[in-house]
Amino acid sequence: MSAKETLSQLVHIDSVSSRANREIVSYLAHRCQTMGLLVRQLPYIDDAGVEKLNLIAFSETEGSGSQSPEVELALVGHTDTVPYDPAWQDATNLIEEDGKLYGRGSCDTKGFIAAALTAIESIELKALRRPLALVFTADEELGLIGAKHLAAAQALHARYAIVGEPTSLRPMRAGKGYCLASFTVRGREAHSAYPSFGASAIFRAARLLTAIENIAGEIRSDQHADFDPPFTTLNVGLIQGGTAKNITPGECQFTLEWRPVPGQESSRVLELIKSAIAREQTHDQDFVVEIEVGRKDGGFETAPDSSLVRLMEEFSGRPAGTVAFGTEAPQLHELGAEAIVFGPGDIREAHRTGEFVPVAELDRCVEILSKAVRHYCFQESRDSPEGPALNSDGPSA
Ligand SMILES: [Zn+2]
Repeated sequence: MSAKETLSQLVHIDSVSSRANREIVSYLAHRCQTMGLLVRQLPYIDDAGVEKLNLIAFSETEGSGSQSPEVELALVGHTDTVPYDPAWQDATNLIEEDGKLYGRGSCDTKGFIAAALTAIESIELKALRRPLALVFTADEELGLIGAKHLAAAQALHARYAIVGEPTSLRPMRAGKGYCLASFTVRGREAHSAYPSFGASAIFRAARLLTAIENIAGEIRSDQHADFDPPFTTLNVGLIQGGTAKNITPGECQFTLEWRPVPGQESSRVLELIKSAIAREQTHDQDFVVEIEVGRKDGGFETAPDSSLVRLMEEFSGRPAGTVAFGTEAPQLHELGAEAIVFGPGDIREAHRTGEFVPVAELDRCVEILSKAVRHYCFQESRDSPEGPALNSDGPSA
């Protein structure tokens, strides 16, 4: 089956994150079993009480029966998509127009999954010298939840991983993290004509926000030159507080997100903010702030001279870059892998009505993934730069 046909079938299965993903996982499991891969489904219950499944499909290894298969290379794709506008009538019907394939998930990230399946189908699995895995996750769009379950369970170990995301076929070797916290600043309500009877939560929040803005400035000195911008960014995107114009506000809430550069602890910003709160408390003992941390995902970085980075640069013909958006690469890193993010389609097209993947990129992705699989899983010695498999005829994808 061609990558385009596979993509059409994948897009046709509605797998918006809020829904159970059993249908798409059953489809993928069937495809993988037909290829001769062993499959393992790893269920969990999401926050809404819906069963979600992660799926690992792997070639037979000595430890196939063990709890956590060890593989040389894992190709990773998330099964879920963001929701789509009901007015987009063909969201789940793949439509081809001018060399582009339109449909929800075509770009993020079913295009990569279709390419990975096609690449592996074209390979004689019996000839593999080192094991290979396809990893399909749930709830990536809701905060990498499926991948976090896999990492917590140490459900497999991989030496190298290619995490599918739309990068226009450029290998991305590092990514910023993603952190989120909501702050509730307490005050005391009073008639605004007599402010000394109360304490303004909004004035207190303003002092804290000024401190956070200063922290955003300070933390710029922790530079990572490969990113644009080359430092951790902070954003207070939401704020609300108070109940009426003539009441001293009793509460003010705001939401802060920050995207730490790799190498910086995801808790660093939070520690600086807690110090700022402690300083406020020295002259305002009732300065009470409740902090609820929603996300604390660190970044990832694979060294520029990693064989995976070099190889994917060679195969794609493009220098490795970095991404500012969150991916499952840190979880694959926790599973032992040197990871890169790579896939067809442009991230700027993802999550939009009318998202698409170019046919040419989809087909090229099949070729590149086939080469990567041949290099890592066919080659006699993983340390020799060019194994015989690399020079043999690749699949004509
Ligand atoms: Zn994605």
